[in-house]
Amino acid sequence: MADILYIVVPCYNEEAVLPETARRLRDKLEALMAADKISEKSRVLFVNDGSRDSTWRIIQQLHRENPLFSGVDLSRNRGHQNALLAGLMTAADRCDMAISMDADLQDDVDAVDAMVEQYENGCDIVYGVRSSRQKDTFFKRFTAEAFYRLMNRLGAETVFNHADYRLVSRQALEGLSQFHEVNLFLRGIVPMIGYRTGTVEYERGQRFAGESKYPLKKMLSFAMEGITSLSVKPLHMITGLGFLVFLVSVAVLIYSMIRWTMGDTILGWVSVICSVWAIGGLILLSLGVIGEYIGKTYLETKGRPRFLIREVLEDR
Ligand code: UDP
Ligand code: MG
Repeated sequence: MADILYIVVPCYNEEAVLPETARRLRDKLEALMAADKISEKSRVLFVNDGSRDSTWRIIQQLHRENPLFSGVDLSRNRGHQNALLAGLMTAADRCDMAISMDADLQDDVDAVDAMVEQYENGCDIVYGVRSSRQKDTFFKRFTAEAFYRLMNRLGAETVFNHADYRLVSRQALEGLSQFHEVNLFLRGIVPMIGYRTGTVEYERGQRFAGESKYPLKKMLSFAMEGITSLSVKPLHMITGLGFLVFLVSVAVLIYSMIRWTMGDTILGWVSVICSVWAIGGLILLSLGVIGEYIGKTYLETKGRPRFLIREVLEDR
């Protein structure tokens, strides 16, 4: 008996692409079922992340027409990562493996075959890694690659050029369910799960229709979320910076004392004012970063639910 595959697709205002996405995913699943690679019980699970357009109505319609499609409707917009987690956790006790994928068809649907094959060969997590970013705008490519580099430098280990297109086995999903953090950054958490992993290369296309739900502002806060939720390296860096500034100030002090013994007048006030400003700036910066972590700790201690499900569509 072949294993059950769930394809989890978070959707936020995706009415423009949803019908096409559904059609392609249905074809893919049916082909895999026909080849007996996956069970007949496999499903496409759409997660409606509090969309304001007709996304949920389309999902309900799809479910009515074909039991292959099921859906989860979140109580409100919780963002991509939380929506994805809601879908994965819903799939966890229904499937043997789950693949997460964006709704806009940027992730190559045909990479699913290779992922399932690697799963059959014993992989618990298979990362979809984009082979090139030719189709992205220069700005998106540049910011995204800079983002990966910065993340790794700051101690948040992620898989290079991997977004959230990946296969996760049931066992790895159970592992994922044991991470209770509220500041969710799945790309950083999944590598922490471990087990046997593999990668599949694919070419990432352009958004099929509609516009990006990740404007620059969201991207920046996503980067901030990633760094602060995964690593405490910024704190170490501040300690290092403080030490360095201290050394410099000692050197300047020694230098001015030598000048003083040589009978020079006191150095100009400009340098004093400058250092006051420099130190003030550093202190503020440090306070800011520390505050960032305190803020996160505060949120974690609240232990708020990361999502609430209003309704789950499934056949009985
Ligand atoms: N998304 C979501 N909630 C949000 C924002 C986005 O569920 O608040 C979904 C969106 O529907 C899509 C995926 O996350 O399936 C990736 O978003 P998008 O394609 O707009 O991001 P980009 O590819 O431009 O980075
Ligand atoms: Mg996209």
